[in-house]
Amino acid sequence: MKRDDDNNNSRDTTAPRRADKSLSRRQLLGLGTATASAALLGQATGSGLLGPLPAAAEALPQVPRRTLGKTGKKIPILLLGGAVGFDRRFDPKIAEALRFGVNYIDAADCYNGGSCEPAVASFHKRAKARDKLWITTKSDAHDPEGFRQTVETSLKKLETNYIDMEYLHALEDGKYLSAGLKHVVDKLKAEKKIRHFGFSCHGSNVPELLQLAAKTPWVESVMFRYNFRKYDDRALNAAMDAAHKAGVGLIAMKTQGSEASFESAWKGFTKQGKWSKHQAVLKAVWADERITAVVSHMDSFEKLRQNIAAAVDKSELTGAEWRSLERYASATRALACDGCDHLCGAALPQGSEVRIGDTLRLLMYHDVYREPAKARELFGRLPEGARRLKEVDFGPAAAACPHGVDLAAHMKRALKVLA
Ligand code: SF4
Repeated sequence: MKRDDDNNNSRDTTAPRRADKSLSRRQLLGLGTATASAALLGQATGSGLLGPLPAAAEALPQVPRRTLGKTGKKIPILLLGGAVGFDRRFDPKIAEALRFGVNYIDAADCYNGGSCEPAVASFHKRAKARDKLWITTKSDAHDPEGFRQTVETSLKKLETNYIDMEYLHALEDGKYLSAGLKHVVDKLKAEKKIRHFGFSCHGSNVPELLQLAAKTPWVESVMFRYNFRKYDDRALNAAMDAAHKAGVGLIAMKTQGSEASFESAWKGFTKQGKWSKHQAVLKAVWADERITAVVSHMDSFEKLRQNIAAAVDKSELTGAEWRSLERYASATRALACDGCDHLCGAALPQGSEVRIGDTLRLLMYHDVYREPAKARELFGRLPEGARRLKEVDFGPAAAACPHGVDLAAHMKRALKVLA
């Protein structure tokens, strides 16, 4: 059987053609509206059977690309987060992103109850765009056999013969980077079922896992929680240096450093000079040359267009904008949780199984990402003991939080909206 990647082994065929004509930010936003409307119109009228993407894309400015560490492949600095819930028939946001060179989709076996991968399949089949896309997906099974089975299932769900990057999803324990797993990864690569391997992580031990990646030659990329609040984190910076030096391609996620709750308190920070708060924090991460790209939760055309506008604009943040961002970080510090629950968790009552970092992350899904059903579903999947928030005195844990997060208030709200 002819493979999808028969002719593509050594070239970066996912790279779109470079545009020879640049557009102003205003024109970009205008075009975005027009193309989005056209795509939506096609979908709404049921014309649906959208053919190959139009050549007009070549006239649009393209999001810059950087090399993803030792993979040697160039990917756009802005990546499409697959947890947004793509349209299962044909997602027009992916088509719109592709026009601007955003051709990397970050999927996972579990996103949106398992519907993410089939939605990506629908898109690439109908747009005839598999060879234009970089598809990363992730395995929630971390043991060798479970990982192998997940890859086989993902290949079927994605309706493709190869996966560009397979991650272990949300790795917490480095012991899973075992000789047995390496054997499976090597075999899957030899069979051309996966091209690259890495892991994602967002728990409290990200620095340790990055250090481990630096010492593990077969880990080619790590996606990890990183944002402008982390610039003075010495352990994390040392680990990023080590991983970068070892050629591990670094991808940042959770870049907004978003609040767990108290949305109204953030409203005064929505605009910081030329860029919105969301655009400014992306540009702040792109300013870090160790980072290849940022995966972004772009669940609307508006966010997609804003992020693309920030990416294609080559100007750097000004000193005033950096200072503004620092003030913003400092003024809102107590509203954001870093997931470092080894600090506050140690102060929970003995025997408590409550997971502060996970709970606040799900509260963020509820309040910030506006995904209440998903947040409740994921909370429901936590062990029963982790959901028993009512009986816990969070006072000592709050006192142990170096950022002054008001744990009692957040947990009270989590109990109300998640349980
Ligand atoms: S509450 Fe504070 S210590 Fe606990 S995980 Fe969040 S930021 Fe870290």
